[in-house]
Amino acid sequence: MEPPSRIESLYAAVLRRNPGEKEFHQAVREVLETLQPVLDRHPHYADTAVVERLCEPERQIVFRVPWADDRGRVHVNRGFRVEFNSAIGPYKGGLRFHPSVNLGIVKFLGFEQTLKNALTGKPIGGAKGGSDFDPKGRSEAEVMRFCQSFMTELYRHLGEYTDIPAGDIGVGTREIGYLFGQYRRITNRFESGVLTGKGIGWGGAPGRPEATGYGLVVFTQQMLSTRGDSLDGKRVVVSGAGNVALHAIEKARDLGAVVVACSDSRGYVVDPKGLDLDLLKEVREARGRVEEYAERRGADARFVADAPVWQVPCEVALPCATQNELTARDAGELIRNGVLAVAEGANMPTTPGAVELLREAGVLFAPGKAANAGGVATSALEMQQNASRDSWTFEYTEQRLEEIMRHVHDTCFETAQRYGHPGDYRVGANIAGFELVADAMVAQGLI
Ligand code: GLU
Repeated sequence: MEPPSRIESLYAAVLRRNPGEKEFHQAVREVLETLQPVLDRHPHYADTAVVERLCEPERQIVFRVPWADDRGRVHVNRGFRVEFNSAIGPYKGGLRFHPSVNLGIVKFLGFEQTLKNALTGKPIGGAKGGSDFDPKGRSEAEVMRFCQSFMTELYRHLGEYTDIPAGDIGVGTREIGYLFGQYRRITNRFESGVLTGKGIGWGGAPGRPEATGYGLVVFTQQMLSTRGDSLDGKRVVVSGAGNVALHAIEKARDLGAVVVACSDSRGYVVDPKGLDLDLLKEVREARGRVEEYAERRGADARFVADAPVWQVPCEVALPCATQNELTARDAGELIRNGVLAVAEGANMPTTPGAVELLREAGVLFAPGKAANAGGVATSALEMQQNASRDSWTFEYTEQRLEEIMRHVHDTCFETAQRYGHPGDYRVGANIAGFELVADAMVAQGLI
């Protein structure tokens, strides 16, 4: 029997050290699988144990978040912040409020974030945080009290040179507002660069809410252009109906695509002539469901309960909901229906089995750590705007976002080519992200 390769023993150590954290295992495995050629070419990475160090977060913070609901009943949630890697900049990454959140989920997200942030070319390290708090059905006042309690513990770990959170699932401008207010109150500092995704009137960057969805579509367009194709006239299916999905729909439509379906956790809506974005936004702003959109839209649209949106035939699929939402079965269906490209707006939404099927079928595939990097890249722009005490225009940030997304695309494309996997954006993103972080770690010594 052959001795286990260095990568295999590294992965075994990650399994042993992080029992039960299946999403974290999956994210690490997905990256390690692609790194062997890099280690073969550059032995100093092995000599400095940089992969081992990269797989272990620099710091993991777990804390209690007590809060009282509107009836005075006390609830206790758990808060997390995993400060994963600060080799190329202060810790940076969103906060997720969702009942599924646990340490393993936050670690998988922090690991992905570290490589993603490196790919943007901006000086930001990787982190992620959140809580198992469920904002669904909670009043405005309850959400505010929860955010205040969460920040009362977290503030001591933050700072514009230390750790800068932002939003993720369940955390938008409203929550960032309550978190920022509490940080400012506790510290007596208007430290605008300590959180990103702020409102425009108090330090936010115009274009930040749009950035992840817009950037995703810019990346997709770039990817299609390598095959002499474009989004014009393509049918697009988007999963989710949150911030990322809505802005992906908007940008895809602006580039001439017809977005025929989107979804939420209860099912999907299909609208063959193209979704009415104004109506969809109106429904979602009132925190309504896509079923309501279908009812209000009338004969054109149809709601399908409890089924994957990937049943709807399309040329371009944009998973923008959550991890592992697009399975091998879904990928099979997409391939049979002639899909050309799949680009991840969410983090790790495509299962490993599905990614493999797409690769075998020659479908263009953009991993989230590259394709959805526009959000955090625009967060870095927000930090820059804050540091210069300036306020920028939407056009300015949008133009910079486009440049950044082209840069991310080209970096992944060229790296894949350099390692003999032309057109494989998964390999390109993993290796390019790894090299950027690893080089900074090696240069800074054994820490
Ligand atoms: N949560 C987003 C992501 O997954 C954005 C993070 C940020 O802006 O810091 O990249």
